[in-house]
Amino acid sequence: MAKVLIPTPLRQFTAKLDTVTAAGPSVGAVLDDLTAQYPDLRKQIFNDEGKLRSFVNVYLNDEDIRYLAKAATPVADGDTISLVPSIAGGSTMAAPPEEAVLTKDEILRYSRHLILPEVGMEGQQKLKAAKVLLVGAGGLGAPLGLYLAAAGVGKIGIVDFDVVDFTNLQRQVIHSTADVGRKKIDSAADKMLAINPYLKIVKHETALSSENALEILKDYDLVVDGTDNFPTRYLVNDACVLLGKPNVYGSIFRFEGQATIFAAGDGPCYRCLYPEPPPPGLVPSCAEGGVLGILPGTIGLIQATEAVKLILGVGQPLIGRLLLYDALGMRFRELKLRKNPECPICGEHRTITALIDYHQFCGVPNPKQPAPAEETRVNDGEIDVTELKAKLDRGDDFVLIDVREPHEYRIASIPGSRLIPLGEFPKHVGELDPNAEIVIHCKMGGRSARACAVLRQAGFEKVYNVKGGILAWSDKIDPSVPKY
Ligand SMILES: [Zn+2]
Repeated sequence: MAKVLIPTPLRQFTAKLDTVTAAGPSVGAVLDDLTAQYPDLRKQIFNDEGKLRSFVNVYLNDEDIRYLAKAATPVADGDTISLVPSIAGGSTMAAPPEEAVLTKDEILRYSRHLILPEVGMEGQQKLKAAKVLLVGAGGLGAPLGLYLAAAGVGKIGIVDFDVVDFTNLQRQVIHSTADVGRKKIDSAADKMLAINPYLKIVKHETALSSENALEILKDYDLVVDGTDNFPTRYLVNDACVLLGKPNVYGSIFRFEGQATIFAAGDGPCYRCLYPEPPPPGLVPSCAEGGVLGILPGTIGLIQATEAVKLILGVGQPLIGRLLLYDALGMRFRELKLRKNPECPICGEHRTITALIDYHQFCGVPNPKQPAPAEETRVNDGEIDVTELKAKLDRGDDFVLIDVREPHEYRIASIPGSRLIPLGEFPKHVGELDPNAEIVIHCKMGGRSARACAVLRQAGFEKVYNVKGGILAWSDKIDPSVPKY
């Protein structure tokens, strides 16, 4: 005998039962037995040819039978079969509290939701009662904040400590040109309240850290991760796992994005997918690698959709599935994610039971705790832009190399520099004089530091990295050099 779980919309055909037992050696046979017991159900889930309708997915225990042997998938005694229609699945969220009753103005505002049976009055009240935490008010946070506010999520917390700058405006559409210089948290809150004055916004003007994360997250129903760095990703994941809050995840890079839901129910977590962070510097940030301005819109709205579905308890959430988006090819792909039984935080033998030092874990410096006077300190093997300018003015005998990409060189360059992109650098080492003094710069100093290391390894001794790169040059030496 197998247990068949019936979703809410189909219970009218099973005498209101949410669980029915049926027998058979395969999924197809169990469904035949089920529909023999409840003939009205048959035409709901099978078409005239006797095939399962495409809007119904069937799961044997936790596996979609499409990935098993379909209708021929063998069924053992005690197995559970779930019918999951693609529009409305079984709602697991509790009924909304009394105070979430909608006013007349709100009923008008949410009219297009209220006439959707999958949302309706009860769903809209669930949205009003929902508490969502948005981590980051940047690229992903912008569409998330605007649409979650518009959709009627009642309480939205925002964690951010950044200030709007001109390079944000190409994608962070919640901020306007007039907001440059303002705190992102204020700019975002103003826009969201302008869309929906019934919204309650809680501002957490801080960097999420191991010290404050549990305290901040505990008041919310779910977390939407719009961060842009690995330490915060692991921190959000671990805090969500420890507190049992779903984490709606999205990430973007250049023309590609990913989305899924971590830490929900029996689903996998971020550490199940990526047990360890990449080595520092391997995956460039958006500031270094660039990002298509529209991309965070696409991915952020997938996250917003999943957040709203979780609140409403409708559809099939993106749990255990990693959605991959390729904007250049305009393709979506989906990978099955599995919970890792060896996962250190959600597995069977957990070794992480409290938040850790995530900057140390990811091998990157903590921006909240800069080394004293780091701003002005120039390390061995480094020169600052003032010294570079003095050397150029004095006509010192040295070679200035720029290791950025040709398209960056066309945006801005330092006069007298020779362009050798970092990727081609090793094969040009032989052209350089090991006795010459060599000064290397890039955009911010990261790539040039790697190029310096290549030369030092090859036996070059007079090699200097320009601290702060061409951005520092623009700030301190020549403001006519554009920043990007
Ligand atoms: Zn895990």
